[in-house]
Amino acid sequence: MRVGLGYDSHRFDPSRSLVLGGLEIPGSPGLSGHSDGDAVAHAVIDALLGAVSAGNVGSHFPPTDNTWKGADSMVLLGKAVSILGDRGFVPSNVDVVVITEAPKIGPLSEAMADRLAEVMGIQAGSVSVKGKSNERMGWIGAGEGLAVHAVALVTRK
Ligand code: MG
Repeated sequence: MRVGLGYDSHRFDPSRSLVLGGLEIPGSPGLSGHSDGDAVAHAVIDALLGAVSAGNVGSHFPPTDNTWKGADSMVLLGKAVSILGDRGFVPSNVDVVVITEAPKIGPLSEAMADRLAEVMGIQAGSVSVKGKSNERMGWIGAGEGLAVHAVALVTRK
């Protein structure tokens, strides 16, 4: 088995709608980015790719490539799982921390975990999504954006 770590941060962009953990979340500002801005998906992708030393989201889906403009990050996550599979590994479990003042992640965490698990082809109980506020400190506390940490364990097929 191998372990990988992922991190992502995106600035809020009120002109976009929020997509996080594969969910469309009404009533919150969206996230800037070349794709749909789903920082949860991007952190999980980096954790999976990192576990097999296969680069990161930017090296596989570069913002210079218009293929990924406005892309559904769940498609990118599916492709990352394929890259993992090509190297002989499958996701075992994933744990995610979303650091943001808003929206509150708690009420959304189960649906996000279910969606991520579905796309990765693993059991819902093998994905955990947790939310933390930043206690109003710094740029996250000021509501400029959000940050996501993810860790993934992968095992040989
Ligand atoms: Mg990103």
